[in-house]
Amino acid sequence: MNWITKFIKPKIKSLFEKKSSKEENTLWTNCTCGKLILKEDLLSNYHCCPKCGTHHKISCEERFKLTFDNGEYEIIECGTPPDDPLKFSDSKPYKDRIAAARKKTGQHDAMMIAKGKIQNIEVTVGAQNFAFIGGAVGIASGEIFIHAVSHAIENRTPLIFFSCSGGQKLQESGLALAMMAKTTLGVNELKKNNLPFIVCMTNPTAGGVTASWASLGDLIVAEPGSTISFAGARVIKDTVREELPSGFQTAEYLLDHGQVDTIVERKYLNSTFGTLLNVLLKKAEARAKQVSNVTIDKSLQVS
Ligand SMILES: [Zn+2]
Repeated sequence: MNWITKFIKPKIKSLFEKKSSKEENTLWTNCTCGKLILKEDLLSNYHCCPKCGTHHKISCEERFKLTFDNGEYEIIECGTPPDDPLKFSDSKPYKDRIAAARKKTGQHDAMMIAKGKIQNIEVTVGAQNFAFIGGAVGIASGEIFIHAVSHAIENRTPLIFFSCSGGQKLQESGLALAMMAKTTLGVNELKKNNLPFIVCMTNPTAGGVTASWASLGDLIVAEPGSTISFAGARVIKDTVREELPSGFQTAEYLLDHGQVDTIVERKYLNSTFGTLLNVLLKKAEARAKQVSNVTIDKSLQVS
C-alpha cells in the first residue's frame, strides 16, 4: 500500500460520502438547467423542473403513482432467475453491484410491473428504474417483461410499458442479448391476442431496449426532451465522420422523423393513455369480431 492508496484515496472517498449524505438531508435539489429547486416543488410538479420543464428520472413506484388513477395500484410479484449467471466480475463483482442497487433503490430488479386502472380501464403497466444499474436489461428483467405480457393476456388488459434504460446488461452478455428476442416474441403474443401495447419512451431509452420491445408499441409515446437512441451520438459521429443534425436522438427529432407517434408531458399521461386506450380497444374489438366472422373457403381446405 503506497501513500496514495493509504491517505489520498480514503480522503477523496470521504469527501464524496459527506456530499451525498448532505444532499439526501437537504430540502433542495438541482436540475440540469443549473437552478436549485425545492424537492417539495419537484414532487408536486410530477418530478418535473418548475423552471425549465425537465422531466427528472423517477423510480418504478413513483411512476405507478403518477400513472394510475388516484395513484392506486397493486404490484404484480413475479419470481426472477438467480443473479449473476456468468459469475461476472470487472472492477467489482457483479453480485456486489446488484446488492448495492437493491439497497439504493429498494427494488429487486430495474423492472417492475403493476396492475390498476387508467381512466377507469383495467391496465397492466411496467416500468424501468434508471437508478438500478442504468435500467439495464438482463434475464431478470426479461422474465418480468414476459410475466407482464402473460398477466395482460390472462386478464385481457392492455399493456403499457415505460422504457428507461441504457440497454442490455453487459455482465450477462449473450443471455441479456437473448432477452431482446424473448421480449419481442412476448409483444407478438399480445398482438395475436388483440391486446393494445403502448410504449412510453422516457429519458434515456437506448441500446437493446430501443432495438426490441420499446420500438414495437402499437403507439409510441415519449416524454419531452428524452434521449432515444441505439448507439450513442459520439459513436455515430465518429463512424459517419459528419456533423450530426441539431436535436439528433431527441424525442422531438424522432417525432419529426416518424419513430415517435406523440410527445406528452408527464402530467397529461394518465388522460392521454385513457383516450388512446379507448380508441385501441374499440379497434381491437372490431378486429376480434372480423376474425370470428371469417369462414374458410372449402375449396382451399386440404382434404
Ligand atoms: Zn430545470
